[in-house]
Amino acid sequence: MMDKIIENAWAELLAKATKKQGVSPRLITGDDIDLYIPQSRLLALAESNRAVFRLIYLSAQESARRNAYMIVRKLGMPSDYFWKFELWPRERAFTTLTKIVHRIFSTIMSEAKEGRLEVKELTIDPLHIRIDFDSCVECAGIKGLQIGICYYHAGTFAGIIAALVNQDNLDCFETDCYAAGGEHCSFVVGDKSDKAFVQKFDTYIHPPDIKIDLVDRLTKSLKKDSLRSLGNMVDVNYLRLLTANILRDNPRLFASTNSEVGHRFGRDVTKTIENFYGVEKWRAVQNYYHDLCQLNVDIKENESELQITVRGKALPTDSRTETISFLLGELQGLASGLTGKEMALKESYFKDDCLVITLVPQS
Ligand SMILES: [Zn+2]
Repeated sequence: MMDKIIENAWAELLAKATKKQGVSPRLITGDDIDLYIPQSRLLALAESNRAVFRLIYLSAQESARRNAYMIVRKLGMPSDYFWKFELWPRERAFTTLTKIVHRIFSTIMSEAKEGRLEVKELTIDPLHIRIDFDSCVECAGIKGLQIGICYYHAGTFAGIIAALVNQDNLDCFETDCYAAGGEHCSFVVGDKSDKAFVQKFDTYIHPPDIKIDLVDRLTKSLKKDSLRSLGNMVDVNYLRLLTANILRDNPRLFASTNSEVGHRFGRDVTKTIENFYGVEKWRAVQNYYHDLCQLNVDIKENESELQITVRGKALPTDSRTETISFLLGELQGLASGLTGKEMALKESYFKDDCLVITLVPQS
């Protein structure tokens, strides 16, 4: 099921990106969502448990590997394009891989803008590739960290390149990250038989705890501060990919963590949202979801409960609780912060295209 969602998300991203070369996919479809949403979901999770970065990496890697053949097909390349890549002359390998990697990633990851991704170094045996990546959407708008946070991209690079050149033993780590003060994000793809590489990868995949100022990040989005040259929007499929990738491998763990994290997160951002909009509290929540999340939220309050209806493009296509647990947690957190009462989930169900949620004060 998750695989289906991931596959569809990839397919849609590719279909849009390949349809009109040079035109941003979001200009064609309007399926865009504020970058803040996927980022905050991901980073709030990673903050609560640093093992999450490793899970993000592994899931992205696996999903990219599995979907690489579809990606290659969609781009009109033969599936054995890189046959016996390890025997290619270096010059040809460099030129070809640069071209293909560039095409794939600039197509699906940075709004089809050219010149954002560059293969900087390539050695073949053992394979070692350095990729510089500008305007990375994973860390845009985040600053002042000690470590790089673009684990989703690292995993995706590792997975797609491994599938392309038909080598199973590749990994990837980030050496430079915009969030950690770099000019751009820089990634190294390498071979697991290379001891020096493995050592660095091990350090990377077991990062220390981090603390990210998500309220500051939210404020940027609310004020529509454009993040570098990127704008603030990404295709909603990017969010789907992130969520489904992480959920796939450990749905239950993530359902419970997600709901707790969402709850805390909702509480943290309550004041910011209320102050920013300066309108009646439920209207502020409505504006927040409308402006940033592509969701229409309707809230009815009576003495005993809150009845919330959610609809919109960014609502998960899969109705299981795992995929909506962050949203449920976030709404509880917001409602608790706004009412001053601890609000608990009484029930939630899908009806037609809507998610219907009832929250009640905790007894
Ligand atoms: Zn980065």
